[in-house]
Amino acid sequence: MKDKITIDGSRGEGGGQVLRTALSLAAVTGHELELVKIRAGREKPGLKRQHLTCVKAVAEICGAKVSDIEVGSTSLAFEPGPIKGGDYRFDIGTAGSVTLVAQTVIPVLLKADGPSTVTITGGTHVPFAPVWEFFAETYLPELRRMGARVEAELDSCGFYPAAGGVVRLRIWPYDEAKRAERYELTGLGAYRGGVVKGVVSHLPRSIAEAEVGAVCVQLRDLGLRRDIQEIDAFGPGNYCCVKLDYERATVVFSGVGTYDKSRKAVANEVAHEVREFVKSGKACEKHLADQLLVPLNILVGGGYKWETDGLWEDEVWHPNWNIDVQKETLHYKTNQDVIAQFSESLRN
Ligand code: ATP
Repeated sequence: MKDKITIDGSRGEGGGQVLRTALSLAAVTGHELELVKIRAGREKPGLKRQHLTCVKAVAEICGAKVSDIEVGSTSLAFEPGPIKGGDYRFDIGTAGSVTLVAQTVIPVLLKADGPSTVTITGGTHVPFAPVWEFFAETYLPELRRMGARVEAELDSCGFYPAAGGVVRLRIWPYDEAKRAERYELTGLGAYRGGVVKGVVSHLPRSIAEAEVGAVCVQLRDLGLRRDIQEIDAFGPGNYCCVKLDYERATVVFSGVGTYDKSRKAVANEVAHEVREFVKSGKACEKHLADQLLVPLNILVGGGYKWETDGLWEDEVWHPNWNIDVQKETLHYKTNQDVIAQFSESLRN
């Protein structure tokens, strides 16, 4: 067992991402982990169901010893063991984000001793998390460009509060021989067209029509195709997403409808996100940027110089990759900060 790394969950963004990144990295590097002040930056600190599921999932995959934890726990101790491929099922039990649980276990299972299947149940289209389309069409293709082999299927959508969304993953151990020698996300190439999709489950079609119509008007110059879908999920729900296809990649933007958010607000949010991204002229969308840091540091190599007073002016050790980020968000900087604490074990 390598030395213990203690992570202060109140630093930076102070949310669930600190915990997810620390868990994935502890499992992959073999460091014992102590997490304190978990989600101290949030209104209701401590573990929520999604985070508890992440801990239990990674623990099961690497046979970790974990201190007694439950919803609301603000600290935990985690002693990882060897990472085992296998057939796993994780049920969040609420509409907590399935894609965030997936992003926690994928880097770990890429380092397993054999292939895995994973079924995760919970929310697939929830606010403040990657929606399925972003995960499948924006995030996973970048992992594949790093040399990872991961397949994913959506069995059913899950919305807040009914949940019941199911995603299935197949993950193969990372083949070092296929390690991308260099990973670049510095240009997207020509714009090839896009689509705006409005989806409702057990809600009036007119909601999706209004969202799609409003987004098309606001983003007229992008010439978006319209796609309106009525689906039969476990409970009611609504979301709207825009997909922009470029020569190099597809970038997805989303807004999720909730009982207190009007269709107009959903449409405005999506259109705003798209406009900000296009205006930036950058290649790596801001959410994607924070989400790529763990796989990049594990698969392509790297690490940051860790300074006890924090890593806000990073000293980078990753000559093998380069991403041109839309914006260095607090999530991005916080993730760098957590990764930096594992850097000695990530350098390769
Ligand atoms: P909490 O904020 O309650 O602690 P959490 O664990 O759900 O909980 P964060 O730590 O805030 O969340 O992390 C949210 C993650 O979801 C980040 O990686 C962020 O980039 C991603 N995300 C948020 N909104 C979007 C979006 N619209 N599209 C893609 N990814 C998103």
